[in-house]
Amino acid sequence: AAKNKGRNGFCYFTPSMQEASQKRMLILTDLHSAIPRGELEVYYQPILNLQTGAIYKAEALIRWRHPQRGLINPAEFIPIAEEHGLIRDIGEWVFCQVASQLKTLQAEQQTRFQISVNVSPLQFQGLDNCLAHWPVYLEKHGVSQDNVIIEITEGLLLEANDKVAEQLLHFARNNMQIAIDDFGTGYSSLSYLKKFDIDYLKVDKSFIFHLAADSDDLALTKAIVIMAHQLGLKVIAEGVETELQRQLLLEMGCDYVQGYLIAKPMPADQFAAFLQAAR
Ligand code: C2E
Ligand code: MG
Ligand code: MG
Ligand code: MG
Repeated sequence: AAKNKGRNGFCYFTPSMQEASQKRMLILTDLHSAIPRGELEVYYQPILNLQTGAIYKAEALIRWRHPQRGLINPAEFIPIAEEHGLIRDIGEWVFCQVASQLKTLQAEQQTRFQISVNVSPLQFQGLDNCLAHWPVYLEKHGVSQDNVIIEITEGLLLEANDKVAEQLLHFARNNMQIAIDDFGTGYSSLSYLKKFDIDYLKVDKSFIFHLAADSDDLALTKAIVIMAHQLGLKVIAEGVETELQRQLLLEMGCDYVQGYLIAKPMPADQFAAFLQAAR
């Protein structure tokens, strides 16, 4: 009973819609104080190099530990943060957490470890470009800039204005890498792949889930891998849950896998222990 229309064509709220909107209101109220109260957390999900079996990458994924509601997933609060102008502060906070995590990993491991950060299109907007200082921030904190991967979605590139293009160029010039997230689900115009300096395509989970059963998904994923490699890009498959999926991806030459088969996203301390055990 989503969009019931009254006899006069007026839309009215059904009880479930009202509940949903009340929930959004509550989330919004609490979200304002989530950062100062220290309720946000960054989880890390390892990304496995399929060809070598090594783990030198991870994705940063935000979580909200709400005092009453427990752990809230980003799908529930990121859209609200975007709608109400809170995403920039949240994005900055996540980035600072990631920088400090990279510094710790750098000290422990000697080898290069990369963390990818999801960046909302809205973080590219506004007069004071809040992303411009990211390379400087990393340098100031002694974190190698090429340890950060910026994850953006196809939508951003489709609507890319000069400001977006300039910021992406600024990242690339400072050795930060760029990944296209959820690749294959947006309204793709593949021409952006040659227009921007992109390093990774992350094949969307929806293609991976049925890889073994759906020959179309298999064909599309293979085609993405071939195209990416021809363009000099690396491919990360998300949502890999089974050994069979991993095997198929290995056979088609996919570069990296991320998914529950390797590990679920986990808090920083658990992630450190996971890496120790994996070595
Ligand atoms: P995403 O960037 O595409 O992240 C991948 C999502 O897939 C994550 O969900 C991850 O937990 C989930 N996932 C990973 N492996 C598997 C698997 O094998 N099976 C299944 N079923 N799921 C898997 P999560 O953490 O709930 O995040 C959802 C989305 O929220 C992210 O999608 C991203 O778009 C957004 N997000 C998360 N953190 C941030 C952030 O710091 N900033 C912004 N702007 N967006 C964020
Ligand atoms: Mg992502
Ligand atoms: Mg580059
Ligand atoms: Mg994704």
